[in-house]
Amino acid sequence: MQSKAKILLIYTGGTIGMSKDFETGALVAFNFGQLLQHVPELKLLECDIETVSFEKPIDSSNMNPEILGSLAATIEKNYTQFDGFVVLHGSDTMAYTASALSFMFENLSKPVILTGSQLPIGDLRTDAKENLITAIQVASLRENGRSIVQEVCLYFEYKLYRGNRTTKVNAEHFQAFNSPNYPCLVESGVHLKTNLSLLLKADFEQKLHVQYTLDTNVVILKLFPGISEVVLAAMLSIKNLKGIVLETYGSGNAPTEEWFLSLIQKAISDGLHVINVTQCSAGSVMMGQYETSTELKNCGVISGKDITTEAAITKLMYLLGQDHTKADFKLIFEKSLRGELTE
Ligand code: ASP
Repeated sequence: MQSKAKILLIYTGGTIGMSKDFETGALVAFNFGQLLQHVPELKLLECDIETVSFEKPIDSSNMNPEILGSLAATIEKNYTQFDGFVVLHGSDTMAYTASALSFMFENLSKPVILTGSQLPIGDLRTDAKENLITAIQVASLRENGRSIVQEVCLYFEYKLYRGNRTTKVNAEHFQAFNSPNYPCLVESGVHLKTNLSLLLKADFEQKLHVQYTLDTNVVILKLFPGISEVVLAAMLSIKNLKGIVLETYGSGNAPTEEWFLSLIQKAISDGLHVINVTQCSAGSVMMGQYETSTELKNCGVISGKDITTEAAITKLMYLLGQDHTKADFKLIFEKSLRGELTE
């Protein structure tokens, strides 16, 4: 008989563990021990759960590479002792954290599942309990002594998604996330329905390696009709800037005005990496499909294909933390490293 799965529950902060400050009316983080008192059901789960909390829980708007690093270190330190990890995290930047962790963890072979909630766990109508309980159940799924999920995921409102495919789409609905370009991995109904063929398969010969370096000399620029030469020039002249995620129109289209193209061309010749992602909530960049993207392709702009902006910016920070030639950088970026884009 298989022994019980061992799950480490890591509390970083977020609404799930907050309560109302009655003086100000604002939601503030409270003690993790109290959080667990609200979910006695955890004792009924078929797994052993240990918990650890950030000393100072954060609202996820305060997430940054340093804090991401300590989260990754907590998982790395406990990696061999546990079968899976559930990370309680604010929903606001959860898609960024899930994307970043997916790149930072090379050769991951155990589940790292992020979840949170729209209402605090103590709230009568909370979505926190279902999210927390099912995230733990999914992290505990095993076959032949190995975890079934072997990647970084996000669980919210009855669905498990590949983390680096997600984006927060609603600040109010319980269904706060979407994975526009990749189907969900597990659906929770009366039974857990796992789409095995969609899951990443780990290479058990390889050891986990965590890359902690994320280069923050990057920026996201969303195009809009009316963007001016001074604005683009100012952005591209930021000191030490190494990479830019350019949110373009439709299938990767941008103005064909001379000033625009020559600024992009010059930035690339000066060594900047320019990634083309679409502003559309679903679909893919296809440079060359229209005249308005052919020049971008000719300049050496990198295609983000159907990657989300969250995954693009974190992949950029991750790859800039390594040493690649310009040509290699483009090749690697356009490849799927952790299932974040469709090749
Ligand atoms: N502001 C909160 C956070 O992201 C919202 C949430 O937890 O859902 O930390």
